[in-house]
Amino acid sequence: MTAPATAGVVIVGGGLAGSLLALALRARDTPVTVVEAPPMAPSGGGAVFSSATAISYGALPGWPLAPTPLARLAAGASRHWRRLQTQHGDLGWRRLRLRLQGGPAWWPLPFAQVDTATLASRLPVALEAAGVTHRIARVEQLLASAAPGWRLQLGDGTSLAAGQVVLAAGAGCRQLWPGLPDGLRSSWAAVLELPPSPLIQGRQAAWLPARFGRVALERRAADLSQPEWLVDGGLVPRGDGALLGQHTLVRPGLELGTPPPAGVVEEQLRRCLADQAWAAALAPLPGRLLQAPVAFCTQGLPLVGPLAEAPGLWAFTGFSAGFSQVPVLAPLLAQALVAGGDRAAAARRRLQQLGLGWSDPVGADRRP
Ligand SMILES: Cc1cc2nc3c(=O)[nH]c(=O)nc-3n(C[C@H](O)[C@H](O)[C@H](O)COP(=O)(O)OP(=O)(O)OC[C@H]3O[C@@H](n4cnc5c(N)ncnc54)[C@H](O)[C@@H]3O)c2cc1C
Repeated sequence: MTAPATAGVVIVGGGLAGSLLALALRARDTPVTVVEAPPMAPSGGGAVFSSATAISYGALPGWPLAPTPLARLAAGASRHWRRLQTQHGDLGWRRLRLRLQGGPAWWPLPFAQVDTATLASRLPVALEAAGVTHRIARVEQLLASAAPGWRLQLGDGTSLAAGQVVLAAGAGCRQLWPGLPDGLRSSWAAVLELPPSPLIQGRQAAWLPARFGRVALERRAADLSQPEWLVDGGLVPRGDGALLGQHTLVRPGLELGTPPPAGVVEEQLRRCLADQAWAAALAPLPGRLLQAPVAFCTQGLPLVGPLAEAPGLWAFTGFSAGFSQVPVLAPLLAQALVAGGDRAAAARRRLQQLGLGWSDPVGADRRP
């Protein structure tokens, strides 16, 4: 029997993208259901999360990271986070000092961070207060239904029907809609979570590399014939402790595959950090390895918009710097989704100006 259609918009994925889009849609009084997969079972050695947001540094550079219209807009993300905090309470955004490795001691650049420990505890409260319906279940399958719309088969044996569905499932998007463009790929990331210690507390600032090797590796992903990994140095405060280093593994092809063994990843991460003068004292500290899959786009522009030949199905994923890009794009996508008429057209134009390919709906013509 077909499930009755859910009113409003159904969002698959309750990470940063799905959650901020849900808040933007509620600001327009649209009924929203977020379907989020249950937490992954603990594995030996470290912790594997299903969400990149859970292990992110949450860094917000207040200047454009590239000479593009989207990067210029994203540089103003802190303004959006402050507005979100005014509406929904503390979400972890705060100003922070920045120390760039290899540069002068402190850079007088505008810099902020979203503490992902605070975000993880506050976001569910904010979503509930805003009236977002939250379902904890994995979406196993997405089927076009006879009436214009979609049927989502859930891991708990139930199903949901909806006229408008947004894929904000990060590295889980391709499994649901294999026809997504080949530029959308995924990697495995890992960081070390350090508990509070005097060595950490003396460094209450973000210590970041001037350039992340991860970004260059993502751009080369389509050319890889074998898996490649690298370690970026970095230290940011998080909760009472800190996150140290970033390990990235990119495999050839479109499949995410299983997480790499935690013991191997931790050894590679600590060894590379020990070789960097600024991190040598931190590398041996006790800590827990956190791993998560990450969606990215090889061209550096996220997938934001309706999917080709799939009326009512939208994508909101593939962010390279989600904490800067998602808060500025979520209100625009919400407007395009539900405003109708001239206001929707204006949002479409703006997304197009940002290079997000609206005129040509994203995706190929394959249906699962
Ligand atoms: C180590 C690291 C450091 C980073 N540092 C920064 C930084 O400093 N600044 C910055 O801007 N960005 C940073 N990023 C990138 C940023 O974290 C991401 O851009 C952002 O978190 C992506 O959010 P998302 O919601 O698109 O994806 P995710 O957070 O991965 O969310 C996807 C959600 O979909 C759910 N899901 C998947 N499949 C299904 C399914 N079938 N059914 C239901 N739910 C499903 C998952 O459980 C998950 O919660 C970093 C990333 C990493 C890994």
